[in-house]
Amino acid sequence: MSYREILQTLSLSDVVDVAAVTLIVYYLLLLIRGTRAVQVLVGLLVLFGVAAAARYLGLRTLQNVLNGFFVLLPFGVIVLFQNEIRRALTAFGKNPLVRVSHQERIEASLQEIVLAATTLASRRIGGLIVLERLQGLREYVENGIRLDAVVSYDLLLTIFDPTTPLHDGAVIVEDDRIAAAACFLPLSSNPSLSTRSGTRHRAALGISEETDALAVVVSEETGRISVAVDGELHERLDARGLRGMLYRHLVTPGEETRRARREGDSPAETAA
Ligand code: ATP
Ligand code: MG
Repeated sequence: MSYREILQTLSLSDVVDVAAVTLIVYYLLLLIRGTRAVQVLVGLLVLFGVAAAARYLGLRTLQNVLNGFFVLLPFGVIVLFQNEIRRALTAFGKNPLVRVSHQERIEASLQEIVLAATTLASRRIGGLIVLERLQGLREYVENGIRLDAVVSYDLLLTIFDPTTPLHDGAVIVEDDRIAAAACFLPLSSNPSLSTRSGTRHRAALGISEETDALAVVVSEETGRISVAVDGELHERLDARGLRGMLYRHLVTPGEETRRARREGDSPAETAA
């Protein structure tokens, strides 16, 4: 069959069908990228390979053992991927009303983050805050100290107080919650990062290269605020610039609440 003939036999529903499956697989892959789930998937693929080999070579005992395993597999998948499944279902099933209040909570937490970053900057206290987007950051949360607390200005300032054990490393924010503090991030090896920037800035850039997350850095040396996103470091931001950056990447376009627009001149801006 030629390419053209294949095209002619395609109906619209086939196209929609394939597009829908492609989208779902794409979003599922995005959800699990950078999480432990990837390793689990690789492990499962290896087991399927072993099972196929066992069948081909007629290894009966191995086949029996693996068959028993595959019967239990669906339950294992639910347990292992419970977080991913929950995230996927909540993303698919968000009703518009829940969504507005969700957006409001995220915007409120962004305000707290802007205020905290500008205060840290004015006091010359170093800070590193990673904001999760589509891709899970559990791998990095797990190497830090778990918090699971609502984002607030006071908590952020307390965490980055240089006399506390939690200040060293990054805070990771998921939605409107601080998932963990003192997290270790991958360092970027981007040579264009100026040699004046130390490891805090390299870590911010690193996480923005490895994942789709956004990282806010406050420099202890210069009191400057930068944001790393998609492998780029945007330096010397003021409160307004930081706020614009966070909103652009974390608030769904067209869904900014009226409250946020009214608060155009929030305390965050005047603090800088
Ligand atoms: P500053 O401008 O604030 O001095 P910097 O980019 O020059 O920042 P350093 O002076 O090396 O960086 O800052 C070191 C701090 O950065 C550490 O105390 C630690 O809190 C944080 N940090 C360094 N590496 C990492 C990492 N891989 N993951 C998370 N945080 C890190
Ligand atoms: Mg330094």
